[in-house]
Amino acid sequence: MDFALSEDHKAIQQVAHEFTEKKIIPRAAEFDETGKIDFNLAREMGAAGFLGAIVPEEYGGTGLDMLAYAIIMEELGRGCASHTTVVGGSNSLFGYPVLCFGTEEQKKFYLPPVCSGEKFAAFSLTEAGAGSDAAGLETTAALDGNDYVLNGSKIFVTNGSFADFIIIMAKTDKKAGARGITAFLVHKDMPGLVIGHIEEKMGFHASPTTQLILEDLRVPKGNILGKLGGGFRVAMESLNSGRISVAASAIGIGARALEVALKYSKERKQFDQPISSFQLIQSHLANMYSRLESARWLVYNAAWRKDQGLDYATEAAMAKVVASEMATYVTHRAIQVLGGYGYLREYEVERLYREARLTELFEGTSEIQRLVVARGLIKHG
Ligand SMILES: Cc1cc2nc3c(=O)[nH]c(=O)nc-3n(C[C@H](O)[C@H](O)[C@H](O)COP(=O)(O)OP(=O)(O)OC[C@H]3O[C@@H](n4cnc5c(N)ncnc54)[C@H](O)[C@@H]3O)c2cc1C
Repeated sequence: MDFALSEDHKAIQQVAHEFTEKKIIPRAAEFDETGKIDFNLAREMGAAGFLGAIVPEEYGGTGLDMLAYAIIMEELGRGCASHTTVVGGSNSLFGYPVLCFGTEEQKKFYLPPVCSGEKFAAFSLTEAGAGSDAAGLETTAALDGNDYVLNGSKIFVTNGSFADFIIIMAKTDKKAGARGITAFLVHKDMPGLVIGHIEEKMGFHASPTTQLILEDLRVPKGNILGKLGGGFRVAMESLNSGRISVAASAIGIGARALEVALKYSKERKQFDQPISSFQLIQSHLANMYSRLESARWLVYNAAWRKDQGLDYATEAAMAKVVASEMATYVTHRAIQVLGGYGYLREYEVERLYREARLTELFEGTSEIQRLVVARGLIKHG
């Protein structure tokens, strides 16, 4: 058993690390304050190969494996969580489902501009009455000639206000439950798509979370992604793999908080000694580091299993629940290590704490991840 990253993975880690250090960390507080994605930076992430990390080169991507993508998300997560959603949106929630379920024509049309950052993507499953119980969605899609006409209201669409392409789930057969859901490739300029309210959030300020209103939105039949009635499968496949990338970004958030806390503990003096010499502070640091490392290996394991073609849904859910709860714990403890300064905007860990919290909620809450883990355990254990 070899726990070392390959030379290729180390090289990718180095590239993503330097990118984050130079271009993101110095501006992370600004992104949080202004609440705006920097589209030039997003395009630079495209040029660096991050936006199309797991998309094959023939469709404009970088053709990396899942482990490499997780490493990129981890490094970017050290910088600005909002900008990781652009990378997660283009890879996990758009590129991956288009690759798995799209026709050749759809792959050639949608993937190259999304990988380069010329176009941005989003994924819309959730509705006011259908969160964890996603199959309960009520948006309808009715066939009319060569088009489907979509009506309904979607919420919590990450980057929905600027995405050029959005995968929207709607019911083509109201009586068929999950089997009546179909995935549609919607363009932002299609008449009938209205961008509604943008939510005020605790963190991830630069990533707009929007409501979408579909008012007789006409989508050509050819824009169905996958099979008619196959939308729930599209959603579940996307979320299974997406959980690895959310978990990886949570590792980045935790890693950055530990770095800040460790440095501070060596510099800050009280009672004539650096606070790192106090065993109660060492206990915080030891717990933070141990939890971070254990979560990191769960994330790498889930990504590795996917790359080997093994079942990974249980491991991805396990990685997400452990990594996201680790990130909340580590950022919370980091504030404690910094004392009163940790509570100030100026000291980064306050922002990281707010960002960590979302990783326990989106792409399936921790409770839902535990249900998936328990299901896997009971079936295979
Ligand atoms: C900032 C943000 C961005 C998001 N981005 C997107 C996006 O891009 N696209 C998209 O489609 N969605 C997105 N979401 C939606 C997100 O995936 C949902 O919020 C999440 O799935 C939970 O749904 P809910 O909020 O309706 O909570 P609910 O499902 O109402 O859950 C409330 C509580 O009940 C628990 N619960 C629910 N069912 C069970 C059960 N069976 N057993 C035990 N406990 C249960 C939950 O875990 C939670 O603690 C986003 C959400 C946020 C906050």
